[in-house]
Amino acid sequence: MTRRLNRTPSDALMTRLSGILDRAVAGTIQHMLDGLDRRAIRKAELWKGDGAPPVSYWRKIHTVAMRKRWDWRVDQLVRRIVRVNQNIHREQFKRMLLAAAKNQRRDPKRIFDENFLLDGPKVAMRMKTFTNRSANLIKKLPRQYISHVAKDAGDAYTGKLTHTEYKQKIIEAIGARTDQQKERAARIAWDQVSKCGAMLTQARCEDNGIEEYIWRTANDKLVAGRPGGLYPPPIDDTSKFHGDHWARRGKKFRWDNPPPDGPPQFAINCRCVAEPIITSFV
Ligand SMILES: [Zn+2]
Repeated sequence: MTRRLNRTPSDALMTRLSGILDRAVAGTIQHMLDGLDRRAIRKAELWKGDGAPPVSYWRKIHTVAMRKRWDWRVDQLVRRIVRVNQNIHREQFKRMLLAAAKNQRRDPKRIFDENFLLDGPKVAMRMKTFTNRSANLIKKLPRQYISHVAKDAGDAYTGKLTHTEYKQKIIEAIGARTDQQKERAARIAWDQVSKCGAMLTQARCEDNGIEEYIWRTANDKLVAGRPGGLYPPPIDDTSKFHGDHWARRGKKFRWDNPPPDGPPQFAINCRCVAEPIITSFV
């Protein structure tokens, strides 16, 4: 019987905290999108020229949005994700190692000796990379939004429409783009918070010389690749978005040689966990 690594009261707390964090990120992005949406609609209404407004016409909205210190706020938020996750992950990591030691019949006392590191050099390095990458991913959103709107505005213009019909079409397209990007924002926020935790597990393992882990799944019908489950086979296990996690359950992996969709919790909506292999301590 394998001890479950992902269902303890503190993990519920971690999930709750992560939920607060990802809502904060998604909320900020959505707030920014609402501002852009209002400005874009206003711009569409003001447009008096013939044909579609040029991209530069929409870009001005972007310039205005940037004055709201958007980039600065994103940096602050991502730093907060890292700080809070790093704090709550410390205890989680210790419990993870204790559970792993039990599963693997190792002496847990030998794990936490004087050499045991919770915030070592790998944590510092990986969290720095994560902060930059994650912030850049979010900062790209307003620019992407404006290019979508500019493209929609171009597509809406057929030459046969009256000016009023044309503007109406653009305004509808702006609304649809805003909704689409808001969903994207919520997904990005959730994904980044989850990846931050996964990356901390990897970094803390590496700092302690743990090179391998066992892939554990939630074992329920939601696990991708489970026969008779919600995402049954065949699932392309070489996909870099989501492979066959059912096929990986109980198997050994190396941190330095991850599957194409990354270690546990990297793929979209992945709830798997990595059980560190406690070999270096015995
Ligand atoms: Zn998974």
